Amino acid sequence: MEGLNTLWKYQELDLLMDQYILEKKNSDSRQKLVKLKNYLIKQEENLVSMDKDADRKMNLIDKMQREYTGLSDRIQAQLAKLKSEEEILPEELEVIIKEGMALNDRIRRKEEELKKLTQEMKDFQSRLANIQRKVANAKKEYVDVKKHYDVEVKKINEELGKLKEQRDKIGEGIDKALLAKYKNIKASRSPVISILMGNQCDGCFMSLASLVVQRVKDGKRIVECENCGRILFDKESIPS
Ligand SMILES: [Zn+2]
Repeated sequence: MEGLNTLWKYQELDLLMDQYILEKKNSDSRQKLVKLKNYLIKQEENLVSMDKDADRKMNLIDKMQREYTGLSDRIQAQLAKLKSEEEILPEELEVIIKEGMALNDRIRRKEEELKKLTQEMKDFQSRLANIQRKVANAKKEYVDVKKHYDVEVKKINEELGKLKEQRDKIGEGIDKALLAKYKNIKASRSPVISILMGNQCDGCFMSLASLVVQRVKDGKRIVECENCGRILFDKESIPS
């Protein structure tokens, strides 16, 4: 069947196009871009959560500093009382001293906590700077790789354009119903045309009934494999 010979040529170009499309999809640059993009998204999320964390820490430091100031003020007030001319009863003095010692303890603890928090904040900031540096590098790399990828894609698309033109030109010589059938099968199976190998369909390796084999060889009509639905083609029939 002449239509089938043409469809076979159509398929050759169609499959070549598939290869280019796959090449585009699997290109190293594209994989790298996907990886970089995922990395950047993850770091972006990371930075947002670090930002919240930093706010929380800053608030905590503020609160502690206020508490520290409050305690210091109280101790100053008591010292002022001690230094004043006012007469202080021994019981009162004892209370003041006791409270002063307790305050002193609390102030020392606050100082420790503040020191710890300040150190944490410092570590945090250096971690933040580190991430920001890495993100900046990744962004720069993304731009570089993208440039490279765009060149690659442009080249592949040019090839694809040429192939498509050739394929579609061949397609013009194919019966519309047959081409529609081809496209329909292509949506789920590729290649669409299956070679007759002895009495087997080389798409699914199913043995075909001799009547089916004969019909394919006759080439008077389109025969589909009963098992996989591909269009069977007797390649021997191609005039060399
Ligand atoms: Zn089959």
